[in-house]
Amino acid sequence: MLEVENLHVSYGAIKALHGVSLKVPPGSIVTLIGANGAGKSTTLRALSGLVKPTEGVIRYDGHDIARMPANRIVSRGLCHVPEGRMVFANLTVRENLKMGAYLQKDRKWIAEQTDYVFGLFPRLKERENQAAGTLSGGEQQMLAIGRAMLSKPRFLMLDEPSLGIAPLLVKTIFERIVEINREQGLTILLVEQNANLALEVSTYGYVLETGRILLEGPSAELKANPQVQEAYLGA
Ligand code: ATP
Repeated sequence: MLEVENLHVSYGAIKALHGVSLKVPPGSIVTLIGANGAGKSTTLRALSGLVKPTEGVIRYDGHDIARMPANRIVSRGLCHVPEGRMVFANLTVRENLKMGAYLQKDRKWIAEQTDYVFGLFPRLKERENQAAGTLSGGEQQMLAIGRAMLSKPRFLMLDEPSLGIAPLLVKTIFERIVEINREQGLTILLVEQNANLALEVSTYGYVLETGRILLEGPSAELKANPQVQEAYLGA
């Protein structure tokens, strides 16, 4: 579904990615783990067209999208939930969900998908008329995922969904991520600093270090790898 080959990204004089290659097969959950500043967010930004690579190919459903404008990438069903959630603070929960559906025309589908999101996250339903800015961090994360679901994604990129969230809510959110993958057949690329959790829910993983893929493999193998355990799993 998605194939990245030799991706290079620079911010002015700073080189953030030095030839990243990865694959995300249809229907899978693949994770990208790595320390602060390794280039995880930059990889997602390049995939969604927010930064332009200086080199490399991003093949999505057979098309090279590396130089395509971000709005055209979104309209192909590739949806990015950025770090820090970025919900519209002054809009209510329901209005935020509606914003997610701005490209959708089928009202029946929008209503059904909104109900699906409320079913996934009953807390959002309870707070549907509350301003999003007053939700807890975990609830905002649920809303950001829910809003992404309203854009009819086929490929969902999640940037650090566990960041700054209480452990119990993190558990719920990760269970829902797996559920969305199974029930809606959604392909997911998950960026996480919480490597334990990420390798638990994914089938395949990549370890990024200073802009390069250091290791890759089935998540269970990465979890058992002493190098990964020492550097990322706190062993
Ligand atoms: P974190 O987990 O801390 O979010 P990350 O792995 O997502 O880290 P990136 O945010 O992709 O890392 O950053 C990769 C490198 O690019 C870092 O050295 C960072 O300082 C640099 N960088 C990121 N954004 C910019 C920018 N807008 N301008 C200049 N440098 C940037």
